[in-house]
Amino acid sequence: MSNPETIIKELKNLVDEMQAVICAEKILAWDLEINMPKTASRERAWQMSILSKIVHEMLISSKMQELLNNLRKKELFELLKTKDKAMVRELGRDFDKAIKIPTDLIRELTETTAQAQVVWAEAKTKNDFKLFAPHLEKIFSLKRQMAEYLGYKDSPYDALLDEYEPGMNTKTLDELFENLKKELIPYIKKIQCSNNMPNNTFLKQSYNKEKQLQLCNLLLETLGFDLKKGILEESIHPFTMGISPNDVRLTTRTDENNLFFAIGSTIHEGGHALYEQGIDSKLFKTNLYSGSSLGIHESQSRLYETIIGQGYPFWKYYFPVLKDTFKKELSDISLEEFYNGLNCVEPSLIRVEADEVTYNLHIVIRYEIEKDLMEKKLMINDIPKAWKEKMHNYLGVTPQTDAEGALQDIHWSFGAIGYFPTYTMGNLCAAQFYNQIRKEIPDIEQKLEKGDFKELREYLKEKIHQYGLLETPEEILQRVTGEPLKTHYFINYIKEKYNKIYSLN
Ligand code: MG
Repeated sequence: MSNPETIIKELKNLVDEMQAVICAEKILAWDLEINMPKTASRERAWQMSILSKIVHEMLISSKMQELLNNLRKKELFELLKTKDKAMVRELGRDFDKAIKIPTDLIRELTETTAQAQVVWAEAKTKNDFKLFAPHLEKIFSLKRQMAEYLGYKDSPYDALLDEYEPGMNTKTLDELFENLKKELIPYIKKIQCSNNMPNNTFLKQSYNKEKQLQLCNLLLETLGFDLKKGILEESIHPFTMGISPNDVRLTTRTDENNLFFAIGSTIHEGGHALYEQGIDSKLFKTNLYSGSSLGIHESQSRLYETIIGQGYPFWKYYFPVLKDTFKKELSDISLEEFYNGLNCVEPSLIRVEADEVTYNLHIVIRYEIEKDLMEKKLMINDIPKAWKEKMHNYLGVTPQTDAEGALQDIHWSFGAIGYFPTYTMGNLCAAQFYNQIRKEIPDIEQKLEKGDFKELREYLKEKIHQYGLLETPEEILQRVTGEPLKTHYFINYIKEKYNKIYSLN
């Protein structure tokens, strides 16, 4: 058995079956969030755990091992087509990770986090970090064990980062995040001293929910999302799910007293959804039918949500539509007032409510704490104190309670350690891509002002979306922008925009 074509064909058959099960898992998950009566949660957990066991068993099967062993031999690998090489690379990565971690450890982590999520919700309501602490202690201990099995170079945190963002490590992140702190902390102080504080109270009036939802559908169409091949629904936490080239689903959330909540969520998820619709349909039924990484995926959502969706050119085009929808509420508001109000910078305690200038410092805080915990430089019981100090030092605000401090995010309770940095990577990548777009499409802003989003969408599809998982995040960044990830594109973007809004120089 040495003909690479025959082996690849066998591998593709296996992958095809795996992908069908993965699609079924996604549809069950969608149904759970959107349609299912809550009484069925036990049955759904049973169904989903069995499907995920099937996928796991298919991945670590002796057949898969045999095929991958053959295809990863240098002499055979070199003969493969580019697409098949990527398929083997990615499957090999998943396979290696899956066999390194003992099933018992996975089971223990699943059980621990299932319980921890319930306790976290209670601890947050009761504002009691001590209640959650023993569970978090256990999660970090299991994650440290996991890192040992997976292996790492400098820090156990590297092993976890690699799960979410292949190729990323603490050495690179330390440098990127130090740069961000050095630039952003003094810049935020400068903004706070400005005499030109925008008003955003008009965004917090009462806005009809049905009208907001109609607008969200319209917005998606405007950006070029194909609603014939997708659905927009409502859920508590907005998310996007690409099931097939003909089935990309996304959700949004409305808040009757916050106009930009639904608009921002819809444009954000719309960015993810455009990515999913843009993946080359020839990659469907393979493991390459996916975004390149969480960071690259987030770069597309943040590019649309912040750079475009909170940008002046977009609102120059779209504000009349919005004003027409909410005639009474926005009658006295000018485009300038609206745009400035949308871009208020206000250091706050809660990450998900943060503006784009302060947002990344929330991520830096979580990263530093997670890394110190993994490296045993910080004890679980000292998290609230560390949290308060860092919030005070970086953002100038101090949480009075744990609920608005270390307990605010759900992520740790389900074991997502090493996940937060992908949010900031998304922001940095978005600015780096947009800098390149401005070079290659010099009249991009005039186009956006006229409501022409086609060129932007096609650029992103051609340069990023269509590739799916064919290229790693580093390869995409390098090919599109000619450089690895940098912070100065983001910093320049922020300063160019907010110097104008806050009349700074
Ligand atoms: Mg996102």
